[in-house]
Amino acid sequence: MSETPRPTNDYQIASEQFDIAAEAMGLKQEMRMLLKTPFREMRVDVPIRRDDGSGVIFIGYRVQHNGSRGPYKGGIRYHPEVDLHEVRGLAALMTWKTALLDIPFGGAKGGIACAPWEMSQGELERLTRKFIQRISIILGPNRDIPAPDMYTNAQTMAWIMDQYGRKHGYTPAVVTGKPLEVGGSQGREAATGRGTILVLEHAARSFGLPVDGATAVIQGFGNVGSFAARFFHELGGKVTAVSDVSGGLHDPAGLDVPALLAHVARNRTIQGFGQGRAVSNDDLLTLPCDFLIPAALGGVINRRNAERIQARFVIEAANAPTTPTADQVLADRGVIVVPDILVNAGGVTVSYFEWVQNLQQFYWDEEQVNRELGKRMARAWENVHGVHLEKKVNLREAAYVIAIDRVARAESLRGFE
Ligand code: NAD
Repeated sequence: MSETPRPTNDYQIASEQFDIAAEAMGLKQEMRMLLKTPFREMRVDVPIRRDDGSGVIFIGYRVQHNGSRGPYKGGIRYHPEVDLHEVRGLAALMTWKTALLDIPFGGAKGGIACAPWEMSQGELERLTRKFIQRISIILGPNRDIPAPDMYTNAQTMAWIMDQYGRKHGYTPAVVTGKPLEVGGSQGREAATGRGTILVLEHAARSFGLPVDGATAVIQGFGNVGSFAARFFHELGGKVTAVSDVSGGLHDPAGLDVPALLAHVARNRTIQGFGQGRAVSNDDLLTLPCDFLIPAALGGVINRRNAERIQARFVIEAANAPTTPTADQVLADRGVIVVPDILVNAGGVTVSYFEWVQNLQQFYWDEEQVNRELGKRMARAWENVHGVHLEKKVNLREAAYVIAIDRVARAESLRGFE
């Protein structure tokens, strides 16, 4: 893959969002430089054999952005658009996310430029194992702890644990998002979608909109999007449109979410579901609704469509779905944007619980996980909403101010040299 920046890549988005908040805080130039510069960036070639015996080389990355508050933490993404800029931007978002939730981790991200949907399970396993072999020197339960992201899942995490363990012995705390059978946590799979809807509920309550009877449009129907749909539906909300990579479905009367979940469990796509009319991924974003929930790729709400967004709230379940230009347009139009580093932090929060359980070898039941998740998400919402009211800044800036302040304090205490 090329490393040329795309028009608005995740790195640019994260970097501009940081600058806006740093400026508002009057953060010293030296500290800005320290907090913007990633600690370490690793790029590796990952050669594997295809099932047909031919050799192919993929490129993988791991970026450790900031570790002043604890071990580096962040997901691993498999997607053809993965490049150093994207991974760098997403690593920085993880630093702010863990700080905002007050979790004792830093921020990292990894990825491999590949098209996982064109690969067999065997090829994916060989790819994962080879990648981990090459980056394992910078991983470890007290160094850097990967997790799932787009097109990686609990199975991928099990391979990572197994591969790392071959050299280092049994080390479940080196990776989170594992299956329950090998040290995963109850509630981890649903955590990001659950956290998304917890934050949506808090936002709706604070801004005076009942969720019961409200409408949501969701882009992406993978781990995050499908659980978000399920929990929104359980609260009495109507999911009027959803999409995946193959396109979208729209029914203003509300889609039958349990039937759709069952369809996707069987077919791995929303295509072929017998309800709703087809809608493109672009048009889906501009449908009228109360809550627009991007839960797929970054940069999808941008200068081309921001004027046409008809939602009252954008609930950023994906990482970096809104460009800074679009952010400004939405603010001017009175659309409330609830930022990614808060909305989708449920995943890393339960990852933290998983890490704690692995280190102690003492496991919690699902009720305890969900209760602790609820407490942390509520506290983070209250902090962000409080700063939003007090400093009269938007929710994203409020979230960044809190996060940057925490990381800057840790950096100062540790010292510059
Ligand atoms: P996933 O791989 O489970 O699902 C991704 C979904 O997006 C799929 O439905 C896929 O079909 C769809 N998609 C892919 N390309 C698309 C396109 N061009 N247009 C529309 N849809 C497309 O991934 P996920 O884990 O659900 O992650 C989704 C987003 O949430 C990502 O931005 C990820 O970084 C973020 N996120 C995930 C977690 C987590 O715990 N999984 C945590 C925090 C943030």
